[in-house]
Amino acid sequence: MQPGIQKHDWPAGTLSGEYLLLFAAGHASICGLMAVVQGGLTLTTLLAVLAGLWMIARWQELFSGRLLSLGVTFVLAVLCVSVFILAPPATPVLFSLPVLATLLFCSLLLDADQMGRQLTDGQLRSAQSWALRHGMTLLVICFVLLVFVSPLAIAGLKEILAPEAPPNAPQMAMDRLTFSQELLFRFCESMTAFFFFTVGACVGSFLNVVIYRVPLGISTLVKASHCPSCSQKIHSKDNSPLIGWLRLGGKCRNCDLPISARYPVVELTIGLLFLLLYYVQLISGGINLAGRNTPGYAGVLWILFYTKWPLVWLYVYHCVAFCTMFAWSMIRFDGQRVPRFSVALMLGLLFAVPFLKTSVQPYPVGIDGAYSSALAYPGVISAVGIVAALAVSGLLSLLKDRIPPTDIGVWLLLGTALGWQAVVGMACLLLIASGLHRLICGPGLFSGDRAHWAWLVLPCAAVVHHCLWKAIALLPVV
Ligand SMILES: [Zn+2]
Repeated sequence: MQPGIQKHDWPAGTLSGEYLLLFAAGHASICGLMAVVQGGLTLTTLLAVLAGLWMIARWQELFSGRLLSLGVTFVLAVLCVSVFILAPPATPVLFSLPVLATLLFCSLLLDADQMGRQLTDGQLRSAQSWALRHGMTLLVICFVLLVFVSPLAIAGLKEILAPEAPPNAPQMAMDRLTFSQELLFRFCESMTAFFFFTVGACVGSFLNVVIYRVPLGISTLVKASHCPSCSQKIHSKDNSPLIGWLRLGGKCRNCDLPISARYPVVELTIGLLFLLLYYVQLISGGINLAGRNTPGYAGVLWILFYTKWPLVWLYVYHCVAFCTMFAWSMIRFDGQRVPRFSVALMLGLLFAVPFLKTSVQPYPVGIDGAYSSALAYPGVISAVGIVAALAVSGLLSLLKDRIPPTDIGVWLLLGTALGWQAVVGMACLLLIASGLHRLICGPGLFSGDRAHWAWLVLPCAAVVHHCLWKAIALLPVV
């Protein structure tokens, strides 16, 4: 190992990592067996058997340390998820395809971790320069895969797996579509997803400016983009999110000094965040939203084409809240403080919007998990959220050496936008994650020169919580 690179000891190469792999292999093979017992020998059950056998091979460390084996695991996991969505076989939940896919993704993480650990500094650098040289090609390949290949694959897979399946309500049209109609429909779906990703990447590009300028007190809207090294104005053709940086090869056109890779990374992250919320909260029909009755509709057709405005407004509101949270956390990551006016402005905005659009406020739920008319007025629920945020932030500051540091502004933001239950849920998630992390790895992941990474733990916890919001809110009731 090269000096200067500190590597963690988990999961690969530890006892808990070994047991995880053993469990994954064992359970995956049972999944495959169960699928055949329940459904006979079909293409779907064959996939489950193949995935089970592949997991046993991974456990026995056959084909390990190769990029190809990562690819095979990934393709099998994606196939399991897609087959489950298109034509779910009647297997018990514990042995179902999503469980199999989760096990495959675990194995993928273990393998990637192991391979990442074997990389030397030189290999890392050459991988970086390779990515820089071929970044544009990779981006185009991802675009073609998402927009053109995946509709064809999904429509084709459905034609093979479930040619006689009943109409696809609630996701699609009521009538059974022909292959070409379905292809067109899937194409519209992936174009819409791509549109949301693009909007997110553009917002990410703006956030880069906000993160850099707001702590310094420079105007975000008036002054044009410029190179951080030589202050030369950046042409609009070089300023497109992701593409601009890749086309310039990560260097300024004027002074040839490197432009940090963090700019495209932030753009990619926000693009993916928009895409995640789009799938989890918007076209799913809001299945993650705690305390709400989901409309029973899902899919691009029923949510966007016949627009369900309450869901769309909520999506926009939550995107604004999460982007603000991300920007503030990145400002803390940079060792700066979030200016008070920025906190006051965004909290005021998020507090005021529910007065205009009551549908965006969190569902008024009391401590017993039931609808509470006392909380039903706009402003009240945000106010309770703010009190909860102050309490949680105060309690967590007592544990300050044991958990990653959190920003009180971010807690207030989450309380205002998502309500008191979400704040409590996120705090629990944060405590459980830090506790588990200390148990497995010991203290010290966020110490020394990596301490600033700790500011990103709360945003990650908030995003995970948001996807599981409904399930977490139901826990005390169950
Ligand atoms: Zn420059």
